[in-house]
Amino acid sequence: MQTELLYKNPKTILNKGTGFLIDYSHSLNPYTGCSFGCSYCYVRQMPVSTFRKAEWGTWVDVKKEAAAILRRELHKAKSKGKVTIFMSSSTDPYQPIEYKEQVTRSLLEVMVDNPPDFLFVQTRSPLVRRDIDLLLQLKDHVRVSMTVETDLEDIRKHFTPQAPPIKARLKTLELLRDAGVPTQATIAPMLPSSEVFPSLLKQLVNRVCVDDYFMGDGSGGRRTRNLGIRKLYEKLGLEDWYDPSAYRMVIERLNSVFADEQIYVSQKGFAP
Ligand code: SF4
Repeated sequence: MQTELLYKNPKTILNKGTGFLIDYSHSLNPYTGCSFGCSYCYVRQMPVSTFRKAEWGTWVDVKKEAAAILRRELHKAKSKGKVTIFMSSSTDPYQPIEYKEQVTRSLLEVMVDNPPDFLFVQTRSPLVRRDIDLLLQLKDHVRVSMTVETDLEDIRKHFTPQAPPIKARLKTLELLRDAGVPTQATIAPMLPSSEVFPSLLKQLVNRVCVDDYFMGDGSGGRRTRNLGIRKLYEKLGLEDWYDPSAYRMVIERLNSVFADEQIYVSQKGFAP
């Protein structure tokens, strides 16, 4: 799908951590919009998306001079206290345009020069492996959280056809682990998966986070309901998975290979 690109000059780049990200001092979005366009993405219903005529997933705004702005704001924020950053809450910092624009990489360079107390990198893209050199310099002040909602590629294609294949995400987790970058696998939003999913993850990570629409969309599942996501489950005859209790089965499966303290549920799995 063609992505409409615009270049914007933002005034600020660090936003205050609120709501689901209340544990963070700031959130950081290198782009506005996201060409992965996941069906269940709750940002679709936020003003940033609803004010645009174009459909979510078809446009991306590139933030110009992002590094210079971050350099200034980070310096100021650090002078006031602890700085913990969530990157990113309403875009994927490693979506395809990042190959060319390298906004995220430029932000990491700033953070290597002047490290925040903690940086959480949330992505579903194998491109994060390009920045292993910078991530390593942040030592244990960083965690890369790789979204792996399911181990089943046909389920992934059904819900997020424009997002990277599951195999590539698992391979990336392996590369990050081998390089020594702190990681976690994030099953969020939890999609239908197979029984072997936990043992697949066990070979790659020692920390897993599980979240679903009901705990994690910031509205008790209302936003997801409004997006009509249930229909996608009905099409597959998998309505049982669209239920507030379904995550317990996945936790049970994870429990067979992971220790309790390696399994995080919802907000705790995203905390600094
Ligand atoms: S990758 Fe994240 S921000 Fe992008 S569309 Fe999917 S859920 Fe939304």
